[in-house]
Amino acid sequence: MTDQRPSGGPPDLKTVFSRISRPARAVVTAGMPYANGPLHLGHLAGAHVPADIHARFMGMLIGRDNVLFVCGTDDHGSTSEVSAIKAGVPVQEFIGGIREKQKASLSRYGISLNVYSGTSTKENFPRHSEYCQNFLKTLHQNQMLYKKTSEQWFDTKLALFLPDRYVTGTCPRCANPKAYSDECDACGASYNPSELLNPVSALSDETPVLKETTHWWLDMWKVSDELKTWIESKQKTWLKSVFQEVSGTIAPSISFSNQCEETFKGLKDHLPKHKSRYAPGKQIVAQFDNLTDLASARTLLQENGVETSLVDGWAHRSITRDVKWGIPIPPGVDAELEGKTLYVWPESLIAPISFTRAALAQKGQDEASWSEYWTNPDARVYQFIGQDNVYFYVLMQGAMWLGTQADPHRLPIDGELQLTDVFSRFHLHVDGEKMSKSKGNFYSADQLVDEMGFDPDQVRHFLALLSLTEKSSNFDFETFKERNRFLAGPLNAAFEKPIAAAQSKFNGVIPEGELIGKTEKETQKILMLYLRSMERADYSQLLFMIENYARIINGLFSQYKPHDDRHDEKQRKDALYSCFFILKNVMIMLYPFVPTTMDRLRRALNLPESVFSIDELLVPIAANHQLGEQQSFFPSVEQNDSAPS
Ligand SMILES: [Zn+2]
Repeated sequence: MTDQRPSGGPPDLKTVFSRISRPARAVVTAGMPYANGPLHLGHLAGAHVPADIHARFMGMLIGRDNVLFVCGTDDHGSTSEVSAIKAGVPVQEFIGGIREKQKASLSRYGISLNVYSGTSTKENFPRHSEYCQNFLKTLHQNQMLYKKTSEQWFDTKLALFLPDRYVTGTCPRCANPKAYSDECDACGASYNPSELLNPVSALSDETPVLKETTHWWLDMWKVSDELKTWIESKQKTWLKSVFQEVSGTIAPSISFSNQCEETFKGLKDHLPKHKSRYAPGKQIVAQFDNLTDLASARTLLQENGVETSLVDGWAHRSITRDVKWGIPIPPGVDAELEGKTLYVWPESLIAPISFTRAALAQKGQDEASWSEYWTNPDARVYQFIGQDNVYFYVLMQGAMWLGTQADPHRLPIDGELQLTDVFSRFHLHVDGEKMSKSKGNFYSADQLVDEMGFDPDQVRHFLALLSLTEKSSNFDFETFKERNRFLAGPLNAAFEKPIAAAQSKFNGVIPEGELIGKTEKETQKILMLYLRSMERADYSQLLFMIENYARIINGLFSQYKPHDDRHDEKQRKDALYSCFFILKNVMIMLYPFVPTTMDRLRRALNLPESVFSIDELLVPIAANHQLGEQQSFFPSVEQNDSAPS
């Protein structure tokens, strides 16, 4: 194919196109919802819409056939079990019903998943549980797991260990009667479960007892140097919010009493390179570059009478539970743990691998080729999650992946699970507050379409526009309507005008012409920003810039009036030719955000579906190309009138 892109522009654009990384294959995952209720606006904003935008972008970059976009429900664990108990329905039935509803909501929002499965479905459970059990065996063989006994609340009536949030009582600090097992929302205190006063089981209203139980714990500390090396390599490519959170957490650190400050200062020049800060509880925390430096610093401080503790709370998490509804730990590995199940968090990290196999099976391909997506260094895995889950997806998952390697003390090689790229979104607020049913600002995904009459593309566009990559952002209905007014106004005009002018004045074909005015320069600018922003999955500034770019069409119309025979014909043709050039670029760039609307634009321009490709950017629609029929694009705001204002 010959390159029809205009030549003579600044060389950096060609460089950008050549530098953009194109993996051979890609998996995109979206944070897994619990199967305990309908999908709401927060799910869409935090996971499914950005993941879909990225999956569509990757499809334009490497071909949709090389991309698998997978998700499913997080079925196991106490959350779903308790919801089912409360609803009085068998858990499998309860979950199945919810999953089908979630699936339907996702599909009406154009979330182009290859598969929406679940961790407990009849089809997926056998492969998923087998893989999880083998995974645990490998971690155990590699000594990434250790056993630890602790006290937990036990409901004697139901013969059930109770998760932290299912025990309430009186706070030992502030006497709040609705405190949880080990923390109080009212005063922010955390304490030992045994300190909670008047404990009550949320499931039976009985008084629970503390009972000893033994679990497997994941030792992330063991691979913290490898995690650090990996995370540091992502400083330029990951979103700041992800990078800062995990790099701060894993820096090898020790703490000691601030009474030792003078001794510490005296030793400063003898200690390995470090940073120090004051920490709550009259402590000083010192951070080192690696575990070796940390160990030698501890020795030196110890010799000078400074008792230190490791700041390693993040690096130890129990990964089994006394819950029946889950994946049993592999039989024959440890008799003391028989009957326990895998904790739902590590299980959900493994689940996208099972979903990938389910997706391949559904496509009629060999399930075993999942490894081409997960263990091949030429492939990439992109994961979209809420900010709260960054710890799990980067640190816990990273340690689990490293822990399955032949040698955990290096980064993965070909054939081992490759470390993934994680993108996060902060909380979505609605009308200035956290969504909650009691405050009346809770919106399910379906409600916005069914009851309030919004078009799914309007919602997708608005959610992508919010700055959730940096901070919690507000879904404010007044602003939403204003944005929709813009889409239906100037943006629709930019789509409709060139098509109408070509239909009425140029026999429905694109006239011969040249790119005029600032068309070329502005195109180069926007495309560079587009590729950069899409790779980082950071959309808010980008969308405004694309809109400004589209408005050049409106500017060309007022200046050269291609729809008006009384003006200079050459200029009219050049202007219209340029408008279609811009329009095609806008259509391709906006496709991942508002796919249904851009597909209508594609039909109006009479272009094949293969036009949704990065390689079609900058390629003008040929002169004399016959256009299709005019279509309607974004709906007018009057159609959204039942929405609150
Ligand atoms: Zn309290």
